[in-house]
Amino acid sequence: MNPSSTVLVVNSGSSSIKYQLVDPVAGQAVASGLVERIGEKTGAVKHSHAGQTTTRQLAIADHEEGMRIVLGLFEEVGPALHDSNVVAVGHRVVQGGAVFAGPALIDDEVVAQIDALSPLGPLHNPAHVTGMRVTRRLLPDVPQVAVFDTAFFRDLPAEAATYAIDAEVAAQHQVRRYGAHGTSHQFVSHEVPKYLGRPVEELNQIVLHLGNGASASAVAGGRAVDTSMGLTPLEGLVMGTRSGDIDPAVVFHLHRNAGMSIDDIDDLLNRRSGIKGISGENDFRALHSLVQSGDASAKLALDVYVHRLKKYIGAYHAILGRLDVLVFTAGVGENDDIVRAAACAGLEPLGIVLDPARNEGRGGPKVISTDDSPVTVLVFPTNEELAIARQAVEVIEAAKA
Ligand code: ADP
Repeated sequence: MNPSSTVLVVNSGSSSIKYQLVDPVAGQAVASGLVERIGEKTGAVKHSHAGQTTTRQLAIADHEEGMRIVLGLFEEVGPALHDSNVVAVGHRVVQGGAVFAGPALIDDEVVAQIDALSPLGPLHNPAHVTGMRVTRRLLPDVPQVAVFDTAFFRDLPAEAATYAIDAEVAAQHQVRRYGAHGTSHQFVSHEVPKYLGRPVEELNQIVLHLGNGASASAVAGGRAVDTSMGLTPLEGLVMGTRSGDIDPAVVFHLHRNAGMSIDDIDDLLNRRSGIKGISGENDFRALHSLVQSGDASAKLALDVYVHRLKKYIGAYHAILGRLDVLVFTAGVGENDDIVRAAACAGLEPLGIVLDPARNEGRGGPKVISTDDSPVTVLVFPTNEELAIARQAVEVIEAAKA
């Protein structure tokens, strides 16, 4: 393909549109931006290109108007899309259910299928569908591709994907473990072997994607064999504002004895839990400052977070049998050496031996284990937009062939 071609990557949320114009060959973002507070009295748009950021505050009635403003900014401050050889639009889709095992060229039927999966992704899929409809209308000549956060986990082994509940109820209501952050887990677990110069087929890896949302995956020979998120991105690790694993009976208890509605509990577990629920802070930089100032609840939040991480490292080590690679990625994983050191502390008997000097500081890619550590531990930056762009190009090239 032409090295100067680009892909417009779109992540459409219920009141926001995040976008990035990506050069998939160079692996670089050419421009990026964010439309926020769509439908509110005052919305905001931020567009960055060539080291310059343009911001606008204005009422944005709906996603169509938001996208028109974005396309206008591309023309006004650059790069002009008609000169950027945009070969595809890649849409991030959170929930692909059991339907999509890989990216899909968008047509009316694919949009209808994504819409039909809305009960399993109520916060995201309706917004993705709106984003697709609008973008297809405004850029009718550019092929559009849906890239699913669940696709990497679609073929999890049945024992990892199945909840131990009444099988009929599960089948009737499509209750199973779908996972999330799959685009990141796939990208990282396939890029790390290249970085190490080792064949992906030979490696057993644990990937820890630690951002605001957080998830762990076990990857054997490049295929996911387990992941920590489930029916929704609420299961698994402790997160910024989400509880992760919890006894489901907590829900019954709060409903029956605290008079909380299901919506209240949904809000509690998704937005008022995690490290924020325990400490009041959902950003690790602020959390560490509190810990340093002697705040006991911040210390507890950090301890609970790290305890859960260790549980998953141990569990996935057992599932994989042999562990070759442990990777930290996303905002916390890439930047927080305190969390990384705490998560690996005491795991030497599992073959995980961190080098404190290598671990120190932010960013990567870098190996942070000692040279003789049986498990290679790395910090490896994720890049979901680049992964979406590359998958979109693969789909349109396959469609042409
Ligand atoms: P998202 O899930 O929204 O994509 P990110 O992967 O960007 O999130 O992660 C954001 C989180 O990363 C922040 O909430 C913060 O806790 C953490 N983070 C970012 N920078 C640092 C840093 N320098 N040190 C510690 N944590 C950081």
